[in-house]
Amino acid sequence: MTPRGWALVALAGLTVALVVIAALLIPWHRPPAPRADQLAALRDLPAEQVAKGREFRAALRPGSYTALAVGLLVALALGLTPLGSRLVELVGRPFGGHWAAQAVLGGLAVVLVADLVTLPFAAWRQSVLTRYGLSTNGWSGWAVDLLKSYAVSAVIGAVALFGFYAVIRLAPRWWWAFGAGGAAVLVILLSFVLPVLVEPVFNRFTPMEQGPLRTELMSMAARDGVPVRDVLVADASRRTKAVNAYVSGLGPTRRVVVYDTLLTEATPAEVTAVVAHELGHAKDSDVAVGTLTGALGAAAAVVALYLLGSWGPLLRLAGVDSVAQPRAFPLLLALVTVAGLVAAPVQALMSRRVEARADAHALALTGDPEAFESMQRRLGSVNLGDPDPPRWEYLYSASHPSTVERMAAARAYAREAGR
Ligand SMILES: [Zn+2]
Repeated sequence: MTPRGWALVALAGLTVALVVIAALLIPWHRPPAPRADQLAALRDLPAEQVAKGREFRAALRPGSYTALAVGLLVALALGLTPLGSRLVELVGRPFGGHWAAQAVLGGLAVVLVADLVTLPFAAWRQSVLTRYGLSTNGWSGWAVDLLKSYAVSAVIGAVALFGFYAVIRLAPRWWWAFGAGGAAVLVILLSFVLPVLVEPVFNRFTPMEQGPLRTELMSMAARDGVPVRDVLVADASRRTKAVNAYVSGLGPTRRVVVYDTLLTEATPAEVTAVVAHELGHAKDSDVAVGTLTGALGAAAAVVALYLLGSWGPLLRLAGVDSVAQPRAFPLLLALVTVAGLVAAPVQALMSRRVEARADAHALALTGDPEAFESMQRRLGSVNLGDPDPPRWEYLYSASHPSTVERMAAARAYAREAGR
């Protein structure tokens, strides 16, 4: 069988594995609370809070979707015309067109162009956040964060680009197999490494100070049978008023992180509800499952790119002879951008199901639906969310159930528990 034949077999195998894992490990059968309960919850929210959240979300919308469209158009312009391959060539020229210069510098230049065209929209978004009082870091802080994230992406991107094109040179016929394995390993590695190496670039983390709240959180984790090494507090107040908490890392790097804004805004019972939700993620290995599906998805993407990349018309559009050349990187980026936009609603749906399960875990673990509901109200009001967002936007991009869904879930739990 030819390498192409094996690639088809590998792609089929990876796709089946992804579908099976998603079918088995994503809690699909978790219907949202009845719409009537959601509407009742919506009526209970202060009208001006709902109006302000909707106004804020409406203010962000034009910039967000224009940025999405512009980003897509630029990716297509670079990838499906010879423009991108010429840019890669141009950047590699001072180095005699050496493959490594084309691969790393050319690749980063293409990514930078794509980033720069959406930069005005990011700045516009920051101005909206500032106007609504959600951002606290000012323009200099915003710029520093932006440069830091460019630097982090450049380092990871350079390693990935060099590795990818080095493999292509070493194994011209089977690079897709090594590339798929490498992409999967990279995703797993980043899941371990990012929390430890990259998050401290943006925030300072300190262990939560000793006291009744910390004792309660640690004992709740022990009761839940979830190995959590520490509860860390991030100094998020430097840049935002928004409140949040999350669990990151796998195994020995796993930790629960709460924003310092959460500790100043919320009552201890509400913080407990949030951490109980995060413990739910840990207990169900949501990070591990996310990493695994991410790794399989990345491997499948490399194989799919190899197969698509031997399609003549596509190569002619991009003005390249083979998808294996660094000059074809803009074509790969265009394909990945389109795939990302198509996959977004599927990823959002899976995320919402997993989040609803963590909510159910939090309710069962704390047995405190009142604190859970007041926490949801607070999250919605501090983060200026639309408690009941437009359906199309919810379906395309909502990573969490809406505020009214989560409030209704708490009420349903209270009803069940009261029986
Ligand atoms: Zn969550």
